Amino acid sequence: MDIQAIIDDISTALRPRLGEGSVASYIPQLAKVDPKQLGIAITTVEGETFVSGDADIAFSIQSVSKVFTLTLALGKAGETIWKRVGREPSGSAFNSIVQLEQEHGVPRNPFINAGAIVVTDMVLSGHQPREAIGEILRFLRYLADDETISIDEAVAASEQETGYRNRALANFMRGFGNLEHPVDHVLGVYFHQCALSMTCRQLARAGLFLANHGRDAMTGHSVVSPRRARRINALMLTCGHYDGSGDFAYHVGLPGKSGVGGGIMAIAPGKASIAVWSPGLNKVGNSLLGAEALEMLAARTGWSVFGA
Ligand code: GLN
Repeated sequence: MDIQAIIDDISTALRPRLGEGSVASYIPQLAKVDPKQLGIAITTVEGETFVSGDADIAFSIQSVSKVFTLTLALGKAGETIWKRVGREPSGSAFNSIVQLEQEHGVPRNPFINAGAIVVTDMVLSGHQPREAIGEILRFLRYLADDETISIDEAVAASEQETGYRNRALANFMRGFGNLEHPVDHVLGVYFHQCALSMTCRQLARAGLFLANHGRDAMTGHSVVSPRRARRINALMLTCGHYDGSGDFAYHVGLPGKSGVGGGIMAIAPGKASIAVWSPGLNKVGNSLLGAEALEMLAARTGWSVFGA
């Protein structure tokens, strides 16, 4: 299979549509990004990398970071984390507060904002906020095998200024006793993890362990157990695109995690880790052309977990 030709074809086919969708405007710094960009990167479990389009331009990974903080929290606290966050799709927007009161401050899953904020509270445990941010950054640099990865402080500050809804979610959960640290500390870390700036090439490389039974296919190092990798992938499939998760599974059929920066990391278990990026979002806040690129890729490669 000629993966390079496939992703070049996809880039070419989608080029006339660049700019479709709308960039996230509620984070002012993200509203400035040129929407006419599309990058695709694939790292296979055989250790090969293929890139096309804007795959070497860094973007704000936003909620894709939630996969990595979940991995860290599971490493720290193991399965006990499920006392504080659920594992069911929410069927509501990523920043919705409606279920939280009925469900006593326990968010539906670790990928909606409320759930990710609880997970970040767990990563913060035993650390000062600055150390927790350092731990997350080091983890991404380690996974991507790239020391140049950094956090975009302007994006973090922009979200700090306008993060009213996240502040509401966090205060609400703190009121229910489901946050151990002060809201400002937890959100300080959360906004920084969302502001991680990475390229498609780096992101695909960082996700490789999830495509390879928990083991980094390049170095042979075990990151998580095979069972844990399978479970993280299951959560990405059911919850990784918020109230668009069913649609993404229907069209693409791969575990995937989106972010409002326009990035999506998708995992073809046993085959490859994929990162796509295009800033224009659909109505539920997932990259419009990114998802289309993945749908075309799944169709051409037969990589969907549900078969060809
Ligand atoms: N930082 C964003 C927020 O908290 C992340 C949301 C997203 O990427 N869906 O609103």
